[in-house]
Amino acid sequence: MLYVICILMELHLTGLHFSASHFLLGHPKCGRLHGHNYKVDVHLEPTETTIKNGMIIDFAQLRIIVNRIIEVWDHKLLVPTTNKNIEVVQADGNMRIVLHDKDVEKTERIVIPERHCSLLNVTDTTCEKMTDALAQAISDALPGLLVRVTLWETENSGVSSDVYSRDR
Ligand SMILES: [Zn+2]
Repeated sequence: MLYVICILMELHLTGLHFSASHFLLGHPKCGRLHGHNYKVDVHLEPTETTIKNGMIIDFAQLRIIVNRIIEVWDHKLLVPTTNKNIEVVQADGNMRIVLHDKDVEKTERIVIPERHCSLLNVTDTTCEKMTDALAQAISDALPGLLVRVTLWETENSGVSSDVYSRDR
């Protein structure tokens, strides 16, 4: 008789944090500059070939990889760079952010030192877009593993995103 044994395993790393400010252009409340204390949970699913020495990954190594990514966002204003209604101009050590809010037919400007900002290649810094960006960045560092990231914007509100990058 042939037995097929399937082992499902998932590694969890929880309790990573960063704080950041953002705005959601066009949103009646979240269009104003405000901030969150974000929490990040990471789950990894291996394939047979990605388990080495009995481990999916050393927890400490995964923590370093994730912290390297989120520290770029920590204590910064997160600025989306691919929204056609948001212009971002870097000059003289400052970031000039011009917001064209079509709903209220208003243009507003934020000028802030560059070192206080982090530019994100997204249209909006929604929890969904940030989760995707974070999951993709972690996946890029860990090819061959299914990466699931949950980003908690508040204690009760979060978004999960799954990304799989093949070995290169
Ligand atoms: Zn927010």
